[in-house]
Amino acid sequence: QIARLINDDIPLGEWPEEFFAIKENIRLADRLLGNPVRPGEALERTLALDRETMFGEIETSQLRGRGGAGFNTAWKWRFCYEGPETAAVCPPGQPAAGIERYVVCNADEGEPGTFKDRVLLQSCADQVFEGMTVCAYLVGAKQGFLYLRGEYLYLHDQLEAVLAARRRHGLLGKSILGREGFDFDIEIRLGAGAYICGEESALIESLEGNRGVPRNRPPYPVTHGYLGKPTVVNNVETFFAAAAIAVHGGEWFAEVGTEKSKGTKLLSICGDCARPGIYEYPFGVTIRQVLEDCGAADVLGVQIGGPSGTFLSDKECDRKLAYEDLATGGSFIVFDRTRDVIGIARNFTHFFAHESCGFCTPCRVGTALLKNLLDKIAEGHGATGDLAELSRLGRFVRSASHCGLGQTAANPILSTLERYPEIYQARLKTIDFEPGFDLDGALA
Ligand code: NAD
Ligand code: SF4
Repeated sequence: QIARLINDDIPLGEWPEEFFAIKENIRLADRLLGNPVRPGEALERTLALDRETMFGEIETSQLRGRGGAGFNTAWKWRFCYEGPETAAVCPPGQPAAGIERYVVCNADEGEPGTFKDRVLLQSCADQVFEGMTVCAYLVGAKQGFLYLRGEYLYLHDQLEAVLAARRRHGLLGKSILGREGFDFDIEIRLGAGAYICGEESALIESLEGNRGVPRNRPPYPVTHGYLGKPTVVNNVETFFAAAAIAVHGGEWFAEVGTEKSKGTKLLSICGDCARPGIYEYPFGVTIRQVLEDCGAADVLGVQIGGPSGTFLSDKECDRKLAYEDLATGGSFIVFDRTRDVIGIARNFTHFFAHESCGFCTPCRVGTALLKNLLDKIAEGHGATGDLAELSRLGRFVRSASHCGLGQTAANPILSTLERYPEIYQARLKTIDFEPGFDLDGALA
């Protein structure tokens, strides 16, 4: 039913009541999804306030990046506005004239099990573009990009139509809403199916027309981004939330959540559950609560934050979704007890070996070695020493790789090995000897 609602392009506000349960005094979809921003509404409020006041609203909201890492959004935007080049020539808070700045929306949603950005772009693209435009006003950018995942090609024409409508209504282009000097436009650029281009510096390389290979960070894109200029790169959901904050205020946003994780988070829930779909939760919700809401039964474990995240066992259901405990970009995959833990780790490990960009040896070679070793174990040919080798190799790939892909590629193996050592042990090759066979003697 949810798939049909999405495919028929039914706005979230019109979804039947049964999809929005009532939890912790908040209708799940009543914070961001339930308070859609009218086109131009956030910009009108932004222009009615002075720049510092609106920066203050974003600061008060304590919004953190929704791509997964959770960097403070107000800091990111301020760094871009006041970056080191600016600080060298201008008093604090005054951007240098002539320095170009860019705003990039990272819609390269490639983490397996994550699809909330796709739904936002399909149902609420106007609000995402509105958030980008508010950001552009605050940091002083004139050009924005939506970097759209190649597999979301089918959204391209629909998104272009939204951009065209915004230009017609004076919400993009020259002198936005009549404000002299407020010029900003957004261009859609398509990825070509490489997972690594979701890493922000590889994305910028791709935007520049180069092969998508991650850069060394620091310097971060806020000071050295697209074409070496200060660039804000944020996830789709971050801009979506920023538009709502511009309208409703930072305090409204920060009313819910935990001490270090304010507001709500969209989750893409899928796997072995009766009610998969997009859910909005206040930060701090327990895994148990989410499992109950989505109708999961006989749970073996949950993959939080996609393959690069953590595999939790059914004994950890009291843990909380929040940056203080479990950070997530939005992926929540449920596995029931019919699933094979080693098979799950194997599937994700193949994914990383395939998606490794090949730039650095620890990841290029390491992910292939992990894949081969896990294949051997999964097929029942593993020897006792292979588990120790799997763990050693996994920790090496984690510590020696150049970017986040390699640094998290061993997570599926390491987190399942830690929680289910007995399942791995049981899969090792065993030989049934004749009763009374003298193994020690034979080995001697
Ligand atoms: P990161 O912590 O290195 O950086 C997060 C953001 O903060 C970046 O935009 C970075 O530029 C900025 N930043 C960090 N330190 C800064 C500083 N000192 N000054 C200025 N800016 C600074 O994380 P990352 O490697 O960019 O991203 C990793 C996350 O991506 C993981 O949490 C992972 O779950 C997530 N992820 C998401 C998807 C998806 O499809 N949504 C896919 C893969 C990975
Ligand atoms: Fe490329 Fe992997 Fe190295 Fe990242 S860690 S640069 S994906 S080879």
